[in-house]
Amino acid sequence: MATKPFASSGDLAAKEQTLEVLADGVYALTAEGDPNIGAVEGEDFLVCFEALATPVAARRWLDRLREHTDKPVRYLVLSHYHAVRVLGASAFDAEVVVAHENTRALVAERGMQDWESEFARMPRLAEAADSVPGLTWPTLTFSDRLTIDLGGERGDLVLQFCGRGHTEGDIVAWLPRPRILFAGDLVEAEAALYTGDAFHREWSAGTLDRVAALGAETLIGGRGGVSRGVEAVANAIGQTRHFLQVLLTEVGAVHERGGTLKEAFEASHAALVDRYGHWPIFEHCLPFDVSRVWDELSGVERPVIWTAERDQEVWAQLQS
Ligand SMILES: [Zn+2]
Repeated sequence: MATKPFASSGDLAAKEQTLEVLADGVYALTAEGDPNIGAVEGEDFLVCFEALATPVAARRWLDRLREHTDKPVRYLVLSHYHAVRVLGASAFDAEVVVAHENTRALVAERGMQDWESEFARMPRLAEAADSVPGLTWPTLTFSDRLTIDLGGERGDLVLQFCGRGHTEGDIVAWLPRPRILFAGDLVEAEAALYTGDAFHREWSAGTLDRVAALGAETLIGGRGGVSRGVEAVANAIGQTRHFLQVLLTEVGAVHERGGTLKEAFEASHAALVDRYGHWPIFEHCLPFDVSRVWDELSGVERPVIWTAERDQEVWAQLQS
């Protein structure tokens, strides 16, 4: 039997990046399933959302953004701590780097291991890896909600913690006036979910309820295209919830009858593959996802730190 290439190490084809202007001064860059990013114009400054994996990759995004605005970046908002979202931060020259307080703690606790793990899992995103000057440290953190006045008649940008989900410290960026939501990795639109650092039970229930309750009419998830209109937004949130619920059900059933992790992986794969198997990073994510659900259902409160070595062990155990 042919072995599957580790994680996304075999995925080397460049993705098409699309910059969309969602409303006056609101920008999103999507990339066929690669991490999405965004920016919001204040009256005399910019708020950027997510930083990509390396400064070289981030600079390419900033070059495109600069075709629309030359305002300086005052705030760089990081939705969570994952390396492919944060290690490009130095390219932004932001005055303030904002994140949830748990995100700062996670960078301190496991930022180095995560960097090594993610760059090995997704070498294409780790382009010009030696341009990363070090870990990205948030300089402003909050626990519940932080409101940025955009100035003039532009209204507010609300940064909000909706509960534990994709990680222990995800935040969303919400523009109440045009009803646009940058959801980070809490919601994916037609892209598989990475849940290796997640809290599946909270994410699939209260956290997604709070995301949905914002009432977005346009949603930019962590990966996949922009969801436009209430129906598309509901579908993206619904797909995310469904993926999590199937994982919990399938892994839960095997766990309860005293089966093995490998059996839980096979049951989850079988239950998800028809609907989600063709979506980006499905095969990459599933071993790590199932491993974390298994731990969660075994009473392991906080996700075990992924290291490059642990990644390979779990991959060898489940995907070969
Ligand atoms: Zn993530």
